[in-house]
Amino acid sequence: MRKPFLQAVAERVLLGDGAMGTQLQQAGLEPGAPGEVWNVEEPARVMAIQRRYADAGSDLLLTNTFGGNRSRLALHGQEARAYEFNLAAARLAREVMGDDRYVLGDIGPFGGFIEPLGDAERDEVVQWFDEQVRAFVEGGVDAFIIETMTALEEVECAIEAIRRHSSLPIVASMAFDKTQQGTYRTMMGVSPAQAAARMVELGADIVGCNCGTGLDIHDYAHIVAEMSAAVNRPVMAQPNAGKPELTDEGIVYHETPAMMATGVAALVAAGARIVGGCCGTTPEHIRLFRAELDKLRG
Ligand SMILES: [Zn+2]
Repeated sequence: MRKPFLQAVAERVLLGDGAMGTQLQQAGLEPGAPGEVWNVEEPARVMAIQRRYADAGSDLLLTNTFGGNRSRLALHGQEARAYEFNLAAARLAREVMGDDRYVLGDIGPFGGFIEPLGDAERDEVVQWFDEQVRAFVEGGVDAFIIETMTALEEVECAIEAIRRHSSLPIVASMAFDKTQQGTYRTMMGVSPAQAAARMVELGADIVGCNCGTGLDIHDYAHIVAEMSAAVNRPVMAQPNAGKPELTDEGIVYHETPAMMATGVAALVAAGARIVGGCCGTTPEHIRLFRAELDKLRG
């Protein structure tokens, strides 16, 4: 039986999973189609991907719900099924991980901007996340992860929704890009230190970075170090496998498992307590990450 999630993170570096979206497309999901539908329509295919991550050594899985909020699903006419997709996702991930390993309910961006920058009302954004959170609670997740965020206001909406229904741990992660000056900022101009400090203030138990543009795994080590210096909380890093490139064979990510594995020790040295992979990473990336983490433990 597993320990409470935060206790496990305090005791050792946990290994996350790798990409879901790119894996779903390899399994036949049409580019642009909502992968959350498969939690109900093609559960065996979702679980097959998650099993490969579990077999590669992941200590935790994210639910297949990155675009599972009503706003994103509405782009495909699937918004009425949001709760159903999120609940199914939590149950599938639990079935794969059993009682010994962790399931994190995944909340991604709603895909727009909150007033006054955009036309989404704050209350409605909280409601979209609230629906996911209720499904995750019913589905028995161990913790929540808010990821790929660029605006702190949106992180705030997600944390507010979570805390209405649960006191389970929250991981809050933003997507940083590298500026021409060599610093790191989200698309909305937030630095790693600002992000970490504010997300902790808002109630995040773990802060992190994922899915940056133009970053390699060594850039993530810098971001982790900045976040670690800013807050007294565990830090998560989910680097993507480099920049996606459109080729004749579809979208290709260039950072191989072996290339990325060389950066794992630096992430841990910088303070990362959870290491996983974002877009373009595969079960093979995760398998090599596992080997690196095991080496570090000696
Ligand atoms: Zn990503």
